[in-house]
Amino acid sequence: MRKASGFVALTLCFSIGYDAWSHRTVDQFSFVQVGQGDCAIFREQGTVVIVDTGPRQGSFDAGRRLVWPALRELGIDRIDCLVLSHPDMDHIGGLASIAQRVRIDRVVVSEVFRYHPVIQSELRAAGFFGNRVQYIDENSRLSFGGLKVSLYPAPLDSKSDNDRSLLTVIETHDKAIALTGDASQEIERYWIQQGVTKCQVIKAGHHGSDLSLSSDWLNYHQPETVVFSCGRNNPFGHPAPEAIERAVGSNVLRTDWDGTITFWSTGSKSERSTAEESSPLTKFFNR
Ligand SMILES: [Zn+2]
Repeated sequence: MRKASGFVALTLCFSIGYDAWSHRTVDQFSFVQVGQGDCAIFREQGTVVIVDTGPRQGSFDAGRRLVWPALRELGIDRIDCLVLSHPDMDHIGGLASIAQRVRIDRVVVSEVFRYHPVIQSELRAAGFFGNRVQYIDENSRLSFGGLKVSLYPAPLDSKSDNDRSLLTVIETHDKAIALTGDASQEIERYWIQQGVTKCQVIKAGHHGSDLSLSSDWLNYHQPETVVFSCGRNNPFGHPAPEAIERAVGSNVLRTDWDGTITFWSTGSKSERSTAEESSPLTKFFNR
């Protein structure tokens, strides 16, 4: 069994606030069920950071169909920072439809994609030009309210857009969460050498492909929970049984089976509520 973090001690330090959705003190983060793609929402009181936007494919737009309803349910009408991990449409396809409905103050993209035609086209379609986009060319830390966002670009000689994914680590008051886009095990090992923040929650890279979520990455973080974000019966066989096997010892959660997965903290005792209590955010872990 991997060791749990010192959650109880830290929650005692949490300040009192108000949350329009739960009517309780909260910071909260959700892995949204967007089918085969990624979208995670982080909120600390009035501050919101999102990593990736879900897919757009044919007439299906997860930004409009799934992410926007989730934001509305949470009472979110403004996003402080939206990070795009890399240019694949299963990560950035929902950008324009989210931007049509919610104010987004800042979009963050890795410097290696400054001239990437796909991501630039999506940014323009969503109305993001010039200094509304922040390009990250070195390990960086940004702060939004109580959320600390650490950004780690991949090495410059990475061979594919997947491997150029921008690693985002978000620290809430008591958890650190790592989101690696679709980067492979080789890049995970590079980030270990960079001394990235150790995280209690990890989103498995590349939707649980066997090429990601290395044993080295898991041993480095010793995560309490590993989340797989993937579509039900997807044609890629994600998540790979080997990747799930490597995650044994952590709580394993899957958006294809569990729906949207939400963690929230009240700063009080641990609780857990069930899926039925929380549509459309279908699974909650109140710690
Ligand atoms: Zn992907």
